[in-house]
Amino acid sequence: MIVTIAGGVGGAKMAHGLAGAIDPADLSVIVNTADDFEWHGLQISPDLDTVLYTLSGLVNPETGWGIAGDSRVALDAMTRLGEEPWFLIGDQDLATHVLRTARRRAGASLAEVTAQLGNSLGVASHIAPVTNDAIATIVNTPDGELAFQDYFVRRRQQDDVLGVRIAGIESAQPASGVLDAIETAETIVIAPSNPIVSIAPVLDVPGVRTAIHRARGVKVAVSPIIGGKALKGPADKMLHTLGHESSALGIARIYAGLVDGLVIDQVDADLAPAIEALGLRVIALQSIMGDGADRARFAREVLDFARSLAVGAPA
Ligand code: GDP
Ligand code: CA
Repeated sequence: MIVTIAGGVGGAKMAHGLAGAIDPADLSVIVNTADDFEWHGLQISPDLDTVLYTLSGLVNPETGWGIAGDSRVALDAMTRLGEEPWFLIGDQDLATHVLRTARRRAGASLAEVTAQLGNSLGVASHIAPVTNDAIATIVNTPDGELAFQDYFVRRRQQDDVLGVRIAGIESAQPASGVLDAIETAETIVIAPSNPIVSIAPVLDVPGVRTAIHRARGVKVAVSPIIGGKALKGPADKMLHTLGHESSALGIARIYAGLVDGLVIDQVDADLAPAIEALGLRVIALQSIMGDGADRARFAREVLDFARSLAVGAPA
């Protein structure tokens, strides 16, 4: 089994590549749920949905989230009724949220509902929320604390992030099977997702870091920062205002001690010696993932790198 730890768009691309590089049934994707929120009474899990839509081929390739060709009839009708639609939800996407909410109200866990959705959409890989318990990213800004989607979507990541906390995380329990998947995986890949708001909420669920330390497989992370910048989203700006360096070296400092190796982009190859000095093995690759074939190419290179780090592998 290969395990990947993922947020939304960057995580989904990595998961998609891995699913194309190996038997997809041998892939387990452990997904951030700290972005989850309630929208007009519906339970929305943005990162789980991005992974589900990407692995099922439904995803909108322009945005990397949402469903390709989705219509906005319901949203337009809500606008007519006086609602200001700050969070864009297409009609087909709405179906996911209605069913998730109804099934959870009927007693199913988020993990169970996610597995059902994956089956219905023909996804062979296992997609799991890191926890079934409610956890929520709260961003501290010069204007005070903001709920994550308020910061991310409504205010378009304009605010400086002075701090991040994950409400509820101390008492959250890993979903069933999560720790076991981590501990027994042949390889663990930390996807190139935002380290602060996508990966940290997964790692900080009690038990997850310990499981990674105990894991017998090789652990590698992929840098989401290329040439000092995020490909999209606020990761670079956020790293900076939180006192990290926005570079592959800054990413290496965050993951040092947790992973064996770091995959960086070829444009950052000159940072390799400084990253190795932190005790990490490093490889510089063409790490911008294009279409499905290119994602699989990248995933194969990441897995080859991981295999080269396995105990007993020829140097
Ligand atoms: P979100 O939950 O949708 O915001 O997305 P994630 O947290 O999963 O991923 C956001 C990060 O993915 C950004 O920092 C991007 O730089 C990174 N990213 C997106 N596509 C790629 C890619 O093709 N290669 C690499 N290395 N990073 C990527
Ligand atoms: Ca997200």
